[in-house]
Amino acid sequence: MNIFRQKQKKYIFLFIFIFLLFLACFIIYGIQTGHNSKASYFSHTETREALGTVVTITLFSTEENPLTEKQLTDITNDLFNEADRLEHIFSARLNDSELSLLNSSAFISPVQVSEELFNLFDIALNYCSLSEGAFDISIGRLISLWNIGSDQPYVPSSDEISSYLNQEGWKKISLDTESKTISYEDNSISVDLGGIAKGYIGDRLKDMAENKGITCGLLSLGGNIVTIGERYTKEDWTIGITNPASPDSIIGSLKVSHMSVVTSGDYERYFVENGVKYHHILDPYTGYPSKSGISATTIIGPSSAVCDALSTACFVLGTDRGMLLIESLEDYEAVFIDSSGSIYTSSGISKYNFTANINTD
Ligand code: ADP
Ligand code: MG
Repeated sequence: MNIFRQKQKKYIFLFIFIFLLFLACFIIYGIQTGHNSKASYFSHTETREALGTVVTITLFSTEENPLTEKQLTDITNDLFNEADRLEHIFSARLNDSELSLLNSSAFISPVQVSEELFNLFDIALNYCSLSEGAFDISIGRLISLWNIGSDQPYVPSSDEISSYLNQEGWKKISLDTESKTISYEDNSISVDLGGIAKGYIGDRLKDMAENKGITCGLLSLGGNIVTIGERYTKEDWTIGITNPASPDSIIGSLKVSHMSVVTSGDYERYFVENGVKYHHILDPYTGYPSKSGISATTIIGPSSAVCDALSTACFVLGTDRGMLLIESLEDYEAVFIDSSGSIYTSSGISKYNFTANINTD
């Protein structure tokens, strides 16, 4: 009996031992698979002050396209350097930029420019025309008169506005494709590329990242979003749209891959004087901050430069004319928010799964 009991005890111990062994193996296996799935991707993120704003670059190493931490860091560095190089071509605020030099001499005789500056003028002038001058790169003198976004903004008198106004000035800019030269008809023209350059730089950084082997990443250039590929989970990226009435919160979200999402808003750069708010997007026909009733325009599409030009153009055009412009362009969709908080979407927005008022993950 005793012997039998002892044997029974032995079997129970053996059973418990084997059970615990299984359990241990199972837990170790579970941790390892969890670890593997986590280790199959990792990211490198850096935020720096660049382009007169805040730029964040996030690049991923994925299971299909593994890269080392050093490779991600080096590519991130290259992208920030490229952003600086391009800023020294396109900035109207830097006195020694290629654009500033062009502005000081293109009214005298045609000036040969870099390929980048020529390309950006070419794209920009196309959207000056398509927007019927709501987007107008020739209003640089008005923009520096108001100086919005600097620490010394200024409300000009109506006489000053009239003397700086140069309606449809973009028509006085000529490009010569053969000689890659740019000329201005007279010295009333001063070009400002602030409404499109960040978008164009976003496209160039994306090209550069892809050429260096990046297949998954997210660039944010002062709120202009450029997605590289799909998210590492093979899902779309979720991009939040800021609520212009309360810029710390999100009014909706979009699901996008391979696309850019660009927003222009009256909450981005503005100043208040004597209780009046003056924002940074000017109506080229009045010379004053645009009063179209729009508070924010978000454009989604393949070219960040085009999204950028369209976001500024639609802000000036207002909901009706802005939506007509978007509907005429096959690859671009829009979300507009007016000053009363109403949301307007273009007919193809469903492909980006626009959802109002949810939190993004
Ligand atoms: P952000 O720089 O905030 O992203 P936008 O893309 O909307 O803003 O562009 C606003 C900038 O574009 C202004 O700071 C100014 O440099 C320039 N700008 C303002 N009004 C116009 C306009 N009607 N057409 C073209 N450029 C404009
Ligand atoms: Mg813009």
